[in-house]
Amino acid sequence: MEAARLSSTKPVQALKPKKTVSFEEDPMTKVSDALPLPLYLTNAVFFTLFFSVVYFLLSSWREKIRTSTPLHVVNSSEIVAILAFFASCIYLMAFFGIDFVQSLVFRPSPDVWISDDEEENEVLLCKEDARKVPCGQALDCSLPPLPAQAPIVSSQKVFDEKAVTVLTEEDEEIIKSVVAGTTPSYSLESKLGDCQRAAAIRREALQRLTGKSLAGLPLEGLDYESILGQCCEMPIGYVQIPVGIAGPLLLNGREFSVPMATTEGCLVASTNRGCKAIHLSGGATSVLLKDGMTRAPVVRFSTAKRAADLKLYLEEPNNFETLSLVFNRSSRFGRLQGIKCAIAGKNLYMRFTCSTGDAMGMNMVSKGVQNVLDFLQTDFPDMDVLGISGNFCSDKKPAAVNWIEGRGKSVVCEAIIKGDVVKKVLKTSVESLVELNMLKNLTGSAMAGVLGGFNAHASNIVSAVYIATGQDPAQNVESSHCITMMEAVNDGKDLHVSVTMPSIEVGTVGGGTQLASQSACLNLLGVKGASKEVPGANSRTLATIVAGAVLAGELSLMSALAAGQLVKSHMKYNRSNKDVSKASS
Ligand code: ADP
Repeated sequence: MEAARLSSTKPVQALKPKKTVSFEEDPMTKVSDALPLPLYLTNAVFFTLFFSVVYFLLSSWREKIRTSTPLHVVNSSEIVAILAFFASCIYLMAFFGIDFVQSLVFRPSPDVWISDDEEENEVLLCKEDARKVPCGQALDCSLPPLPAQAPIVSSQKVFDEKAVTVLTEEDEEIIKSVVAGTTPSYSLESKLGDCQRAAAIRREALQRLTGKSLAGLPLEGLDYESILGQCCEMPIGYVQIPVGIAGPLLLNGREFSVPMATTEGCLVASTNRGCKAIHLSGGATSVLLKDGMTRAPVVRFSTAKRAADLKLYLEEPNNFETLSLVFNRSSRFGRLQGIKCAIAGKNLYMRFTCSTGDAMGMNMVSKGVQNVLDFLQTDFPDMDVLGISGNFCSDKKPAAVNWIEGRGKSVVCEAIIKGDVVKKVLKTSVESLVELNMLKNLTGSAMAGVLGGFNAHASNIVSAVYIATGQDPAQNVESSHCITMMEAVNDGKDLHVSVTMPSIEVGTVGGGTQLASQSACLNLLGVKGASKEVPGANSRTLATIVAGAVLAGELSLMSALAAGQLVKSHMKYNRSNKDVSKASS
């Protein structure tokens, strides 16, 4: 929070909230609650008034026609009736009509800011004037002004429509104390016991501290309880990422609709085309080669000799049984598979590998490793544990150890794409694909000195599927390690294509997988939660789906490149007709 204050480009005093309440949604609170009279009462009065005066005016009009009196001759009670008619019309129009019409035109942001900068205020006020919202007494007249910066997009609408949380006087006090630094922002959840309210207050305080509007970053629509202590600290909202669907991917005889969360145009369409080519050719097959998450602590001794002593102890098969008993105590699912050691002088790196059921397994393996380190301390009291992770694991960094040894799930996935599918669906030829794969994915990557990057764009598919299914997107680094192979088969008629991915780190329990939207995507794939039959079956299936989707993505992008279509299709899917310069102004 302190950092946020320091980084603010304007002094805090330069901006002040226009009102003491902000209008974020609380499903239980309505803006109309703040009105002096209940809405049903004023509605009833004006409805009755409207129908009474209409009845009265029509009767007197009929009477005038009958007695041949000119219609424009009105007595005092008729004048009162006409005035009452207009008053009720204005009320009813405002209540039922104008809001509807306004909602068709645009929805303003819920953020309420006015700047001390006169010029800026003028702009804001002009925009407000242009809206000219006529409002009757019963209306919510407090429609907030347009945001100073963010353009209004339709995807925001659903949240802004519901943005009616009224921050109470008490909340206002808390906001002030957060702004003043007397209440730490991180403590709001524990102090209030209400995660949604904590997020709303933090967001409001942040806007005041920074002087920046958060219009466009939705607050409503996320279950803040579900992320507490698990997924994200100090939330102020969430980022929306569209989810597209590629498939069906025919893999090991089953069809999967693959959800992909991305903002890169073309990606889903391209993967979808790859799925089509695979499907028309009879499907892909994938094999799980290995399944083990790793963690490698670093320990230090006073001599290299002592470090080597521990290495030999750990590699002695007789000791493995004892160590795995100690390790496995940490979880019903974590099962030690092996320990690989590397020495650097008097420092020892011990890479523990274990199966983790349906969890991606980082927590699980870390707990098991901690058990073993505690156990080893008895026989090796001079062992100095420097860190439970010594980077020989290796998590979220490109590393040869993962490429060679594997981490998480190691999967190979293959398909034979028929020659006519290559021609009709992928719009290229088997020869061109084989040649391009050799020169780009193999030779080109060797020339660039890549580590695990012998592919066209595995990380595109991995990231999109990871985000959609609640995986840790940072593990895209090693999970995208992939070598794509292409070969002409069946006398050169057909294409054999494969992807080999040694480090797919996925889980279907824990982390972000339990959040509502991510869980829905896992459900779509039929791998939600823990597998009832065989622990780990869901996460292993998910790993094969990731590899299958990568295979589809590789096929399609390589074909686009071979056919020289890449730029053309990107111009079609990545560039809408919108004038980008206008959109951002
Ligand atoms: P990670 O180890 O991937 O960080 P967590 O520790 O957050 O994951 O989640 C794993 C938790 O889920 C553990 O407490 C574990 O006991 C529980 N769990 C329940 N069912 C399973 C299963 N089938 N496979 C793995 N873990 C499971």
